[in-house]
Amino acid sequence: MDVKVGHAHGWVFGLAGLATFGLLVSTATVGHGKAVPRPTRSGPSVTATARAIRPAARPASAGTVARRATHARAVSAPARPSASCRNGYVALTFDDGPDPVSTPRLLAALRRAELRATFFDVGERVAEYPQLARQTVAYGTAVEDHTWDHRSLTGASTSTPALTARQVIAELDRAKQAIASATGRRPQFVRSPYGDTSAAVQRLARELGLIEVGWTVDSNDYAGILTRQLVTNVLQVRAGGVVIMHDAARIPNTIAAVPAIAAGLRARSLCAGRLVPSRSDTPGWEHGTFHARPAAW
Ligand SMILES: [Zn+2]
Repeated sequence: MDVKVGHAHGWVFGLAGLATFGLLVSTATVGHGKAVPRPTRSGPSVTATARAIRPAARPASAGTVARRATHARAVSAPARPSASCRNGYVALTFDDGPDPVSTPRLLAALRRAELRATFFDVGERVAEYPQLARQTVAYGTAVEDHTWDHRSLTGASTSTPALTARQVIAELDRAKQAIASATGRRPQFVRSPYGDTSAAVQRLARELGLIEVGWTVDSNDYAGILTRQLVTNVLQVRAGGVVIMHDAARIPNTIAAVPAIAAGLRARSLCAGRLVPSRSDTPGWEHGTFHARPAAW
């Protein structure tokens, strides 16, 4: 969907200030979807700051819009693939947000690179930072379900007991409701934390109207690798592929990698698309196949 261009310009500027502040207050770390325990909630001081700063950003942007509407349109048009997409689409996905430090910076980087993506957000974080989930959708990206509190549904990666069917339903549905309430859009897809899934989890997801999505390329961004290596990992993706990255304050290299990822995709005439349901299997996921594929927004 399109974003009002003038608003978007001021919005990015306003959130840049928020991001800068967030770096100073040193928020809690966010775990990777695969190998690290679930995210630690950020402290109340960050929440209060996010609430305090955001309203101030909006009036400033409105003034800018009124005076410089033409300029704003030129520099901050909604992200659309300007390159040829003749070789097809890939899906860029970012897990574990929203995060008051990382999400605004990541959205700004995506905007500058004219990329759109899919965010698999953690329900309790959406409930804590609903405005960030809203802004993610307003930017033109999708916010999907990454469970309520990022616990392993099967226990495979965390050596914890598998959740009961009732618990799995609660994990998926509670996050789904939080996202719908914050953004006005109901999630269509879910990604299990750590990729820990099973036939039972997938069936329960389907009963809730959610399609489980894995990945075909792991960026390994959570491992603290150099930006250049991260870019190389991501650009291994082929048409139809799904890349997993993270929206997390402790992984700034992911944001730093965005311009080179955009350039690399453009050079191969690949575009970053949205996820759509697919009847055929998408292979390559370490935990099996899934039924979604990238397509034009
Ligand atoms: Zn995750």
